[in-house]
Amino acid sequence: MTRTVAVVGAGAAGVGVADALRGTDTEVTLFDKGRGISGRAATRRKHGCRYDHGANYIKPGEDAWVDDLLDELGTDGLADIEQPVWTHDAEGTIAEGRDDESHKWTYVQGITQFAKRVRERAAASVHKATRIEHIARDEEGWTLTDTEGESYGPFDVLVLTPPAPQTADLLAATDWADDRLSRLHEAVESVPYRTIRTLVLHYPFELDRPWYALVNPDREHPVGWLSREECKPGHVPAGESLLIAQMSPEWSVEHYDDPTEEAAAEAADLVADLLEDDRLTEPDWVDSQGWRYALPDAGVDATAARCGEDAGLFVAGDWVVGEGRVHLAFENGRTVGSRIAERGG
Ligand SMILES: Cc1cc2nc3c(=O)[nH]c(=O)nc-3n(C[C@H](O)[C@H](O)[C@H](O)COP(=O)(O)OP(=O)(O)OC[C@H]3O[C@@H](n4cnc5c(N)ncnc54)[C@H](O)[C@@H]3O)c2cc1C
Repeated sequence: MTRTVAVVGAGAAGVGVADALRGTDTEVTLFDKGRGISGRAATRRKHGCRYDHGANYIKPGEDAWVDDLLDELGTDGLADIEQPVWTHDAEGTIAEGRDDESHKWTYVQGITQFAKRVRERAAASVHKATRIEHIARDEEGWTLTDTEGESYGPFDVLVLTPPAPQTADLLAATDWADDRLSRLHEAVESVPYRTIRTLVLHYPFELDRPWYALVNPDREHPVGWLSREECKPGHVPAGESLLIAQMSPEWSVEHYDDPTEEAAAEAADLVADLLEDDRLTEPDWVDSQGWRYALPDAGVDATAARCGEDAGLFVAGDWVVGEGRVHLAFENGRTVGSRIAERGG
């Protein structure tokens, strides 16, 4: 009999679950509150530019399987960012040296292509713009209800992949009279996340620098990360620059609710100072995205995270791995999907 699996969240982990269940007798349905899929590996289009305002790239490091996977998903539009990542310190001193030999993969069409391509090959159906707010479990399985009052299910298996604090909220809104629920909730609730506010600064002129990005390893500078989106093919028209400034967690929390223009003006001043270029204080347009739950600072207790699996309740995501990386979240989703496949009917 075909098994039904509901996955809340269609980011890297969610599509990873679907990918692992390809070719099994399983029907996977993804639910995402976003208008598109891919979660924090996000791309936006504005004024003729395309930019990745969450995850910047997929960096395989020593995980050679990632290159093979990206190959399998299709190399059309796949782009390796050639310029290096340099560093800046608390004083704003810029230095070479952070980069290694690893690829830095994105797509001409934006980093969302990764999740889109995986979902397509998994042929999983997706309910977009569907925020799940209530979950119930009975002998039939798991039923989900969205914020419009629409119900879905019952499903044999449920996988929760939103960032830990949002998964904890969902578990708090779950009707399941079983001790495992509170054990899981407690473990998930305790996973700490960092907040990052991304400011997008566009300029109608080229910026000539030898690096693609600067990262602040000592975490003492208000600009945690600064990258030049024009280094990605197809993202920024010639003769223009688009800077992605990911602000430090301290700055981001302090300025999280500031209006975009105000936050961008302050970020542009910091960037101009860092790059010693006064022109950068005046971007011709700006954009912003707050990531309240940007990156996990630790992983969930591995045993507690699996305590609901016998009842068909699974969790996956970067917070299960304990590191905010697209390919690791995907790999974790795939591992969870394989466990579901092995579990049988
Ligand atoms: C600013 C920033 C920069 C980063 N840079 C990099 C980088 O350069 N390289 C890298 O590898 N990683 C980077 N990361 C980390 C990477 O983006 C994440 O680790 C990865 O995308 C996590 O995938 P996920 O599937 O676990 O979670 P997510 O991508 O967060 O997916 C979870 C999904 O759940 C959905 N959701 C949440 N609640 C509900 C609900 N109630 N109902 C329905 N749907 C819901 C969300 O809309 C989301 O799509 C960065 C992250 C940020 C924020």
